[in-house]
Amino acid sequence: PTRDQVHNFAAGPSPLPSNVLEEAAQGLLNYQDTGMGICELSHRGKEFKAVIEGAEADLRKLLSIPDNYSILFTQGGGTGQFSAVVLNLLAAHRLKNPVKAEEFKPPILDYVLTGSWSSKAYAEAQRLSLPPFPNCPAFAEPRIAASMKSEKWTRLPKKSEYNFNKEAAFIYYCENETINGIEFPHNSISSSFPFENVPEGVEIIADYSSSFISRPILNLEKHAIIYAGAQKNLGPSGVTVLIIRNDLLIDTTEASKLGCIPHTPITYEYKILSDNKSLYNTPPTFPIYVSALVLKHLLNNKGGLKGIENINKQKAELLYSTLESAEKKNKVKLVVRDENARSWMNVTFTIEGSPEEEKKFLDGAEKRGFKQLKGHRSVGGIRASIYNAVTLESVKLLCDYINEFCA
Ligand code: PLP
Repeated sequence: PTRDQVHNFAAGPSPLPSNVLEEAAQGLLNYQDTGMGICELSHRGKEFKAVIEGAEADLRKLLSIPDNYSILFTQGGGTGQFSAVVLNLLAAHRLKNPVKAEEFKPPILDYVLTGSWSSKAYAEAQRLSLPPFPNCPAFAEPRIAASMKSEKWTRLPKKSEYNFNKEAAFIYYCENETINGIEFPHNSISSSFPFENVPEGVEIIADYSSSFISRPILNLEKHAIIYAGAQKNLGPSGVTVLIIRNDLLIDTTEASKLGCIPHTPITYEYKILSDNKSLYNTPPTFPIYVSALVLKHLLNNKGGLKGIENINKQKAELLYSTLESAEKKNKVKLVVRDENARSWMNVTFTIEGSPEEEKKFLDGAEKRGFKQLKGHRSVGGIRASIYNAVTLESVKLLCDYINEFCA
């Protein structure tokens, strides 16, 4: 099929706007009449410098990122940040608490578990809970501040179910759980993440990989670090974006001199990345280039982030209301039971009845050009990811198919 005969509901890497890809294809062959493609130009040359600086400025504008936050582009994906955020924040915490090694106590790290990705981040932190040598303290003490695992990730914790520790070095949460389809909701003024429960002085880290630039980030300034892998709304896989408060750009080797902290690899140190304007080593130039084009496209075409939010809200409301009607007929079941916590980006449901029904649904979808609807291999079922580049028209057509299938 041709591109316009297909509706791509992939969870990531996911579709990008066609006009952006056309421009990127041209840039790949001959960037701005240089006779060379963007991937063939030095990352330290004036052309790429303009690309990365433009991407940073446009992202700052789109998300209204204040001056006391830096924007960094790096590699290693969301998974790389599961480690990097911990290493950098343990170092920052150690500098703030320069007690003698004999008096050192492993800092508490508070994790909010709402699905697969926050659980993976927690599992990564747990690697630091083992002592590096016999009879010596561990590097950190990761804790679960709230978990919805026993309810199979079908809802978010209630305010009273969070148990934050006032001594914690940080609190970690995942804004949108891509696999389970659960997201911290917000209206235009408030968010359901309980910022008000967070003890004074405890830093907050958020994984925004699958909801990045889908709508404004409320309470951005309550966060120490927000990060996102690019491969959903922003660009191709290969680049990870960080928004980090400037006072956390610290020399981790200074903290290492105090002892009791793990070593931070040089490409994971935020200060090194920042001092070198994200060019300490060779960056993923093509994903950054495409991300820069996506950001320009969003700023030029859709009335800013509010416009994008509006369309995403319409898409999500339409799909969920169609699925709710089908649920009343016992044809499908929405995975997330808490209506307010249903993700705007990843809509998860199962097809009820015999196991053949799911295959029938997917085969019929495939015939109509609806692609990549199969749920994540760890949970099964169906997942329709409706990121920025999925049009309202595509969602309407999917809803027509669901109605037809469930008639
Ligand atoms: N966090 C979230 C919310 C994700 O959706 C993903 C991947 O899909 C990751 C982290 C891991 O990202 P990566 O595969 O880039 O390491």
